[in-house]
Amino acid sequence: MTERVRFAPSPTGPLHIGGLRTALFNYLYAKKNNGVFVLRIEDTDQKRKVEGSEEYIFDSLEWAGISPDESVKNPGKHGPYRQSKRNDIYKKYVKALLEKKGAYYAFDNAEVLTKARELDEEEKGAFKYNYENRGSFENSLSLSQAETEKRIDDGVPYVIRLWVSPNEEIIGEDEIRNTVRINSSELEDKVLVKADGTPTYHLANVIDDHCMEITTVIRGEEWLPSLPIHVLLYEKFGWEKPKFVHLPLILNPSGKGKLSKRDGDKNGYPVFPIRWKDVFEGYKEKGFLPAAHLNYIAQLGCSSRGEDEIMSLKNIIDEFDLANVQKGGARFDYEKAKWVNQQHIKRLKKEELVSIIKRKRKDLEKSFNDNEIHEIAELIQDRIVLLEDIESLCVMFLESPKKYDEMILQRLEKQDLGELVNKLKKLVENEEISKLKDAVFRFCKNENIGMGVVMQTLRIAVVGTLFGPDIIRVINVIGKYSTLERLKQMKNLT
Ligand code: GLU
Repeated sequence: MTERVRFAPSPTGPLHIGGLRTALFNYLYAKKNNGVFVLRIEDTDQKRKVEGSEEYIFDSLEWAGISPDESVKNPGKHGPYRQSKRNDIYKKYVKALLEKKGAYYAFDNAEVLTKARELDEEEKGAFKYNYENRGSFENSLSLSQAETEKRIDDGVPYVIRLWVSPNEEIIGEDEIRNTVRINSSELEDKVLVKADGTPTYHLANVIDDHCMEITTVIRGEEWLPSLPIHVLLYEKFGWEKPKFVHLPLILNPSGKGKLSKRDGDKNGYPVFPIRWKDVFEGYKEKGFLPAAHLNYIAQLGCSSRGEDEIMSLKNIIDEFDLANVQKGGARFDYEKAKWVNQQHIKRLKKEELVSIIKRKRKDLEKSFNDNEIHEIAELIQDRIVLLEDIESLCVMFLESPKKYDEMILQRLEKQDLGELVNKLKKLVENEEISKLKDAVFRFCKNENIGMGVVMQTLRIAVVGTLFGPDIIRVINVIGKYSTLERLKQMKNLT
């Protein structure tokens, strides 16, 4: 049997990290098992639909490199893949459910329900439309068949509710959690079809999973409370249930509460994969490689058995095992996410990095040839944490320092800086730049000056700070002319 999994987002806004993690785990499970990864758009609630969200979901998955095998864009034989286009399918199954006495019509208007709710909330603390009180409401269980049919013919508005019998044990199995056991008396007769004729989430979700031949449902923990209702629906329809996996919540870094957009805003990290409508930045714009972002979120709630935490998507697929998914919430750690990104950048092939650098700093090609840009890539590779760092890391190759590290200047000042800079200028003028290293050695020996002082002076003059890549290699890239310009600029300061 082919494993079929689905990611079933509602297009109600941008896809949150939690959503992307759900999509990723579905993708991993499908690829690991030679299965099919389906994307279904759950848009039954048209009022909650937000323009642009559907496109955003596709763009995010494409950026991450985990596009679905079947979706509205590349339909297979289980379509339509958008719930708003499946109403005829739902109607057919609801009719069957009504005939099997798995559901019933309810005509109660909002006023009656509100009153009953208020009363029960006051007396019992909560209101449930269920076996205890359904006889006192106006529905096809309390009214005669003739009256029910008359009302329907007369166009009286109605909803269709799930008919839950009391005192039955409902068992929900989850692949990574303990079995959920619940007495059906605790459940409500959930609305399955709304007054406007559209299905609710529960009904559409179960019918679609069945019709799309989904074998394993992998979704967030927030859907665990819906499991008993879904199990009941499968039983009423007489369908075989898929396997269920509820992924642990993603918590904010403090571990208190779900990771939220507000938390991200406050602490300066995105919670979305890509930019949302000029409103929020995503991981892409922040400078994350898609492979690194996936690598990090694959670890959220899933411990890897591998030696190396840094993995390509292929390795993640090979390693993927539902047995490694944990039950407890997974704490989000932005610093860790950045570290993973840095490790991926360190492992980028030189050619790939060069093309990213060229894209980020188009001006490099005006001043440097390909070999030199390769050398720049090598010199900055280990220092890039986010791709946006490339811009600032390249400045040293393009411009003279705008300022100098004051403390170092003061320290060097004691060594008669002006004279030393002059001598270094002469040295650079007279030497072949590719042989500068040896020349500096000789110079130190002849002048009896410490190598440290000379190198620090050169570095401060050329890049303005003591941090950064091998200064002799930087000088080799920028060439004799720029080096002399920078030494002159520093000389004018002293
Ligand atoms: N439409 C639901 C959501 O937005 C899907 C829940 C499920 O996967 O069953 O997350």
